Amino acid sequence: MTRLLITAVLLAVAGVAKPTEPILLPGGDTETLDMGRTPEWVIAVHGGAGVRLREEMTPEMETDYRRTLTEALRAGAAVLDAGGSGAAAVEAALRVLEDAPIFNAGRGAALDSTGMARHDASIMRGSDRDAGAIAGSSRIRNPISAARAVMEQTDNVLLDGEGADWFAAEQGLEMADPLYFQTPARRQSLLERRAAEPGTVAKANVSGEAGFGTVGAVVLDRNGDLTAGTSTGGRTNKRFGRIGDSPIIGAGTYAANESCAVSATGHGEFFMRWTVARDVCARVELAGESLSDAAHHVVVDTLGAVGGGGAIIALSPDGEVVFSMNENGMYRGAMSSDREPLTGIWREDALE
Ligand code: ASP
Repeated sequence: MTRLLITAVLLAVAGVAKPTEPILLPGGDTETLDMGRTPEWVIAVHGGAGVRLREEMTPEMETDYRRTLTEALRAGAAVLDAGGSGAAAVEAALRVLEDAPIFNAGRGAALDSTGMARHDASIMRGSDRDAGAIAGSSRIRNPISAARAVMEQTDNVLLDGEGADWFAAEQGLEMADPLYFQTPARRQSLLERRAAEPGTVAKANVSGEAGFGTVGAVVLDRNGDLTAGTSTGGRTNKRFGRIGDSPIIGAGTYAANESCAVSATGHGEFFMRWTVARDVCARVELAGESLSDAAHHVVVDTLGAVGGGGAIIALSPDGEVVFSMNENGMYRGAMSSDREPLTGIWREDALE
C-alpha cells in the first residue's frame, strides 16, 4: 500500500513536471555554398544544431568552435587530397571533433539519466551503400572509428552496447575508461536538467543548450564517391537505453552516389520518424528535386512544422554543399580542393 502510494506520488510529480519546449525559430534557412567550379574533393562538417545564444558566446568560445571545426576540415582534407577514401576522411575529421570536449561526441558527450556517456555513431558509403554503426557504447574512445570498422570488417550494419565495445577492443581500437568522456560542463548540464525536470528524463529539444553538439561530416572523394558519418552522445538526461537517430542509417546518416550524402543533428525521435537523411536523398533521386529544395522541404517545411528541431549538412555528387536548419544555428564548415576552410555558427550569418 505504502509502496503504491509512493509510486503514485512519484508519477504525479513526473506528470506535472513541465517538459522543456522546443525553441524553434519561425521559418528556417537553407544555404548553398559554392565550392568551386569542379572541385576534386569536398568536405563539410557540423558540430550540432541549436547553438549557444549570441549573447552567451564569448569571443574565446567562438574562436575555439571555429578553430576546432577548421582543424576537423583540414584533417579530412589531408586524407582526401592524398587520394584517400571518403570513409578515411570522415573518420579523420570526426575524430578531431570527438576528441574536443566542446562537442557532444566522444570526450564531452552528453550524459544520460544514469550519469554515463553512451555513444551512437554511424558511417555510410555512397558507392555501394555499405554502412556501419554502433549504439550505446561506453568505452570506445572514438566511436566513429568503430562504426567504420563495422562497415569495413563485418557483414553487419549496427552493433550495440557491450557488443560494440567488445568488437572495438577486438579490432584493436583505443578504449577509454567511462570517466574519460565526462567533463565538468556535461555533469553540470545533467544536474541542471534533472533539477528542471524532476522525476523525468529528457523529452524535448532545447536550442542553445550546451548538451547539443553532435558531430557529422559529408565528403566527396577524388573517386567521385560520397560518404557521410555522424557521432553523438545523444541528449542530456536521455532515458537509459535510449538510442537516437545518429546511428540509424536513413535517419541521421545516409549516402548514395546517385543522390546525396547527409549527416543530421537535432531531436532524434523526429529524425527517425521522418527518416530524414534518406528522405532528402530520395527526393533528389526519385522526384528530381535540387538538393537545396529537398533539404529545405524536409528540414524547414516538414520538421519545422511538427516541432522537430534540428539541421542537416548535405552534399551532392558534383560537390554542392547545402546547410539546412530550423533552429538558431549550427556549428558548421566546409572546404574543397578549390576553397579554403569556411566556418559558421548562427543561422543568419554567412560562412567566413
Ligand atoms: N540527434 C541526436 C540525438 O537525438 C542529438 C543531436 O543531434 O543533438 O541523439
